[in-house]
Order: sequence, then C-alpha cells, then structure tokens
Amino acid sequence: MKCWLVGASGQLGQCLQQALIDNQVFSSIDLVKSVHTNPDYPSSESFSLKASRTKPFKLDITDFDAVKLFVLTHKPKLIINTAAYTEVDNAESNIDKAYNVNHKGARNLALVANQSNIPIIHISTDFVFDGQATIPYLEAHSSRPINVYGASKRQGELTIQQACSQHVIIRTSWLISEYGNNFAKTIIRLAQNRNELRIVDDQIGCPTYAGNLAKAILHMAAQIALGKTTWGTFHYCGNVSTSWYGLAKAIVEEASVQRKLLTVPILQRINTLDYPLPAKRPPYSVLDCQQIKIAWDIEACDW
Ligand code: NDP
Repeated sequence: MKCWLVGASGQLGQCLQQALIDNQVFSSIDLVKSVHTNPDYPSSESFSLKASRTKPFKLDITDFDAVKLFVLTHKPKLIINTAAYTEVDNAESNIDKAYNVNHKGARNLALVANQSNIPIIHISTDFVFDGQATIPYLEAHSSRPINVYGASKRQGELTIQQACSQHVIIRTSWLISEYGNNFAKTIIRLAQNRNELRIVDDQIGCPTYAGNLAKAILHMAAQIALGKTTWGTFHYCGNVSTSWYGLAKAIVEEASVQRKLLTVPILQRINTLDYPLPAKRPPYSVLDCQQIKIAWDIEACDW
C-alpha cells in the first residue's frame, strides 16, 4: 500500500523510515515522502537511513492546492501526518505560524483525504491537557491546553475529526530517539560539556521512544491495508512515567555505562518555577493507553 509520509525530515518521520527498513513485516508498505524546508536530512548519524532513502518531495501543508495536487498525482492510499510546528516556547510568540501548520495544515490534509476517500493517521500531543489530573488521561477526558502549541494541536485534532471520517489521531508524549532534536540528545550533549545539570523534577509524563511509536503507526497502516476501519482518537506513550529529572538521570546513567561520557555530571533537581520558560507545561500528562491495545492490539513499550 502506498502511504504518504508527511514530515519525513522530522524526528518521527525519520523513525518511521528506519522502522520500515528494519522490519520486513511491513514490506507491503511503500512510502512517498514529503518535507517542508529540509530535503537534506538526516545530517548525522543514521547510515542505513541515508543509504536507503529516496528523495522526498518538498511541500507546504498550509498550501491547500499543493496538498490536493500531491494526492491527485501520487494517489496514496493512506496519509500519515507527522508534520507539525513543534517549537513549544517559540509558539508563544509565533502564534500564527503554530496555528497555520498545526490547524490549517491539518485541515488541508483532512479535507483532501476525505475528498479522495483515503484515511489519515495524524499525530497529536499530551499538551492538549492542562495537567491537573492525578490519574492517567483517558481519550475522553476534556482537553484544556495551557500553551499555544497545545491549543493549536487541539484545533488540529478537531479539524481532523470534523473534516475526515476515516481518521486515527494518536496522542503521544515526550518523544526521544536517535533522530532530530529531542531531550535525550540534548542531555547527552550537555552531559559531555558540563559538570552539573539542573533538571526540572515537578513535571510528570511518559517518555516515548519514537521508534516504538513508528512501529505502532506502521502496524496500523498494515491493518488499514487489510481493511481495518477502527477510526478515532487513541493514546500511545511509553509505559513508564517519570519527571524530566528522572529521564535525564536514566539517560546519563545509560550514556556513562556505554562509556560515552568522560565524566558523569551531577544532576540537580529543580522546580518549574526555578526555570521559567515562555510556554507553560502541564505538571502531569501521563496518558492511559488501554484503548489502543483494545482497538489495535498495540501495546505501550519501554523507552
Ligand atoms: P519535528 O519537529 O522533529 O518534525 C516536524 C516536521 O514537520 C518536519 O519534518 C518539518 O519539515 C515538518 N513541517 C513543519 N512545518 C511544515 C509545513 N508547513 N509543511 C510541511 N511540513 C512541515 O517533530 P516530531 O517528529 O518530534 O513530532 C512528530 C509529531 O509528534 C508532531 O505532530 C508533534 O506535534 C507530535 N508530538 C511530538 C512530541 C515530541 O516530544 N517531539 C511529543 C508529543 C507529540 P522540515 O524539517 O522540512 O521543515
């Protein structure tokens, strides 16, 4: 089945391509890929991905005509949308840009998918919640974003739900992997240069290895190719909840075991108030992942 991977240069987009290379079980899936500004990814580490990749097309999802033409030309049977404006702090001052990509871009994809009678898998975020819950968030829990990024992603969800009947929205959290910019890579880089790191310990969430999410998405795509039509919104994240401090500690320990670090930095716990950022973060954003297990037989994994 031909799938259009939107956002091929992003962290998750690259993980999806790597998962396809690594897992023969998904050999029925054929990707046609698009990026926005960055056709020269990946810049660094993945040899196998570099060696095997075919050139992606350049396309801006905020351009409805371009989205429509792409689908008419390439005739994908499924759209996988990993593209988003993901700069959480910059979104506070770039409100139009965040909404343009996360709302209007999602709407364009959903409208064209619906017109062409093809399904869409769209990725969303734990940041649609305000973080005031004390038990893991169910899909039905009311969303109340507390920053621009979360609000723009929530609008993206609503437009997908309204505009395209055949949709799967996957809300995920705290993506980490060998690709793109993410917390794990930042911590390893800082740990190599600093003796001490101060990390926030009062925000709790579930780190998610993006490679596992990529496999979950490909599993869904393979099921859709076989005719499965269990549409809706689902949560998928790693099965361990922790704080950013807890995640940093695990990353530093792992890196030092693998002898990547010459000296192991001291980790200091701090509170959100000690580290003010432009965008507020939900203090608690653990997602309940039972529905995706029941509906799609996809199990949350370790990170
Ligand atoms: P990245 O920031 O790594 O990648 C974003 C991608 O979106 C890039 O490929 C970028 O293309 C593309 N893009 C941006 N603007 C446009 C546009 N106008 N038209 C077309 N493509 C565009 O994101 P991730 O891979 O980390 O995130 C994947 C998904 O997961 C997103 O929906 C995100 O909201 C969600 N998510 C991410 C989390 C995280 O921790 N990273 C946590 C929870 C959810 P280019 O590089 O060419 O500009």
